[in-house]
Amino acid sequence: MVIVGGAIIGSSIATFLASRPDFDGRIVIVERDPSFRTSSTTLSAASIRLQFSTALNIEISRFGIDLIKHPDRYLAVDGEVPEFDFVENGYLFLATHAGLKALEHNHALQRAHDVPVRLLSPSELSDRFNWLHTDDLAGGSLGLADEGWFDAYALLQGFRRKARSLGVEERVGEVSALERDGDSIRGVHLTDGSFLGADWVVNAAGPRAAEVAAMAGLELPVRPRKRNVYHVEAPISIGAAPLTVDPSGVYFRPEGPTYIAGFSPRPGDADPDTLDLGTDRAPFESFVWPTLAHRVPAFDRLRLLDTWAGHYEVNTLDANAIIGPHPEVANLVFANGFSGHGLQQAPAVGRAVAEWIATGAYETLDLRPLGYERITRGTPIPELNVI
Ligand SMILES: Cc1cc2nc3c(=O)[nH]c(=O)nc-3n(C[C@H](O)[C@H](O)[C@H](O)COP(=O)(O)OP(=O)(O)OC[C@H]3O[C@@H](n4cnc5c(N)ncnc54)[C@H](O)[C@@H]3O)c2cc1C
Repeated sequence: MVIVGGAIIGSSIATFLASRPDFDGRIVIVERDPSFRTSSTTLSAASIRLQFSTALNIEISRFGIDLIKHPDRYLAVDGEVPEFDFVENGYLFLATHAGLKALEHNHALQRAHDVPVRLLSPSELSDRFNWLHTDDLAGGSLGLADEGWFDAYALLQGFRRKARSLGVEERVGEVSALERDGDSIRGVHLTDGSFLGADWVVNAAGPRAAEVAAMAGLELPVRPRKRNVYHVEAPISIGAAPLTVDPSGVYFRPEGPTYIAGFSPRPGDADPDTLDLGTDRAPFESFVWPTLAHRVPAFDRLRLLDTWAGHYEVNTLDANAIIGPHPEVANLVFANGFSGHGLQQAPAVGRAVAEWIATGAYETLDLRPLGYERITRGTPIPELNVI
């Protein structure tokens, strides 16, 4: 089988598949950028949470947490266990009166699924986080455990090392065409002129997933959308803060003694498709910094240290992953459209896709609701907590 794209999703699928005693096929990962400098995986904010608005996304991240907290169970090679420097500070979602109902609704769902999360009133927020401006808030939802951030590059390398130890081959190259014969794919062509035959092809091309689907004549509603991350220093420390999501959509979290911050456009804002990685500082000055300074008065004097940009792979139907085979081309498997939460979903998605390929069914988490069929039917299952 061939996996197109060797970052977090491709390497997780390869690792879980190669780990299975019931799969003995050859696995080749084709990766166009072996430095991974342009992959979403290494440009992400590297955070994980259970505070989602759908039960399935909660369960998907729960397995992600398990793997990050217990790499010895999944990624040890010759007794060596990778370390991911997990900082378990939680997420804090803030709401004004306009957003309180949605916050309460999500809270009820999360509690029904045993998520350790607490709703806090404005005065409880002030008591707990004395650096927070709460006058215009109606409440907040704080993750008490199993949420935080980690070293994404270490996780990627942990998967790659494990995959290689299990015999997975990594090939540097760019897939330029899929050889389709009616309802199946026979293999992939590379820009260097070579051809790799394959009984399965997995699309793990991140923001370029629609390009790869188009190589088989298929439409995938996944678009590359630029997201800037601003790395800042504050002269006054606010201590061990959670990843805090302002009602405006601006988020920040500690990064060692400094902070990173960013935002996603709100509905109606311009959000063009682009594979450009040039950074845009203007929104920091006009929107992000004023918003941060309003919410955290100590951030009134910030120093911008650095800016980088990466791509969300936005599923324009419902901001949720598209996982599993194409209904008409059953040996082409998608693992795309994560819309900004794919790093944390990689462990569960890798395990699930491996189950599907090895047995034709999901054994642990049933990911059929995330299948391509909902795209054809036009029946979204929206994720409301997109950051
Ligand atoms: C700014 C930012 C912040 C984020 N924050 C978070 C977060 O806090 N938590 C979270 O869970 N997620 C976050 N994400 C999302 C997360 O990074 C992605 O969902 C995840 O990394 C997707 O992984 P991937 O392997 O599918 O894609 P990628 O990491 O982009 O990898 C795809 C790979 O495919 C390769 N490729 C593409 N086309 C071809 C081809 N034709 N031939 C060969 N190789 C090809 C590419 O070179 C690339 O290496 C964030 C993303 C961004 C941009």
